[in-house]
Amino acid sequence: MSWTDLAMNGRILLVDDAMENIQILHHALRDEHDVLFALSGEKALQIAHNQMPDLILLDAVMPGMDGYEVCAALRGSAAVRDIPVIFVTALTHPEDETRALEAGAVDFISKPFNVAVVRARVRTQLTVKRQADAMRELTLTDALTGVANRRSFNEAMDNEWRRCTRSETPMAVIMIDIDHFKNYNDAYGHQAGDLCLQQVSAAMKRCAGRPPDMLARYGGEEFIILLPQVGGDGAEVVAKRILEEVAALRLPHAASSVSDRVTVSMGVASVQPSEDIDPSALIRAADALLYRAKETGRDRYCISAAV
Ligand code: GH3
Ligand code: MG
Ligand code: MG
Repeated sequence: MSWTDLAMNGRILLVDDAMENIQILHHALRDEHDVLFALSGEKALQIAHNQMPDLILLDAVMPGMDGYEVCAALRGSAAVRDIPVIFVTALTHPEDETRALEAGAVDFISKPFNVAVVRARVRTQLTVKRQADAMRELTLTDALTGVANRRSFNEAMDNEWRRCTRSETPMAVIMIDIDHFKNYNDAYGHQAGDLCLQQVSAAMKRCAGRPPDMLARYGGEEFIILLPQVGGDGAEVVAKRILEEVAALRLPHAASSVSDRVTVSMGVASVQPSEDIDPSALIRAADALLYRAKETGRDRYCISAAV
């Protein structure tokens, strides 16, 4: 994919109280992009949250909520904070431009529009946005397995912990470790070990695929699954499914004392999150249960009702 491709097909939200301005911009951008529009600041915020545009072209002067207020509201909300905003305005004083940039805009386009300039600036900002997204994705993903990494897990855990605290719904965590994996590497080689990690993680992903669920690589051959809004019973269902899915892979492991196939051990813990409990307590509990699963024979899960 080239950098030009990166700028194509982005979703752009046009915000202007004058329909004719929207029409001109829509005409300029519709061939290359997916174009949405809003005739007020309030509506723009709603669409930004629901449709997650890649870029917003925002009129500075509007009745009701003006462009600066919309920009401030976007910056104040984690979900939409990273959507770049280009201010579009007939105001011509340098102070207007400064004010727009200070409000968090990435660029500034003056009315009346020059269509070629609008297109070029939109392309530039979309490219920058895509590069930033790709970079962020890299920092949150484990390179070998493609699942979330530990940093990304910690971020999700903190967010979901707050959410479950507010909604008074439980949270479960499953800590998973491949059995006798050192022997596997010794017997089949490190490359085969890598392939095994990829296959086992893909199998586990099939067991916990709902949107708030998250599978992450926690350490070398250790994985963790976050199950927000799930209690002990639900987590046990997932753990059982993982035993089945990993068994169904039928990956030979002649150097294991547990089975002639690759197996995993798991610790399953759940809790009602609250402000008085630290999320790390749930992870420690799952870890202790994983240790027990190892001690009592491997190829199994151990579970406890609450932390
Ligand atoms: P147990 O059943 O008690 O978990 O034993 P184990 O051998 O699985 O556990 P141990 O912690 O002794 O060994 C983990 C092994 O995982 C050692 C390490 O070389 C291997 N490992 C960690 N990360 C990777 C990786 O990215 N690729 C490969 N191939 N092996 C890895
Ligand atoms: Mg292991
Ligand atoms: Mg280990």
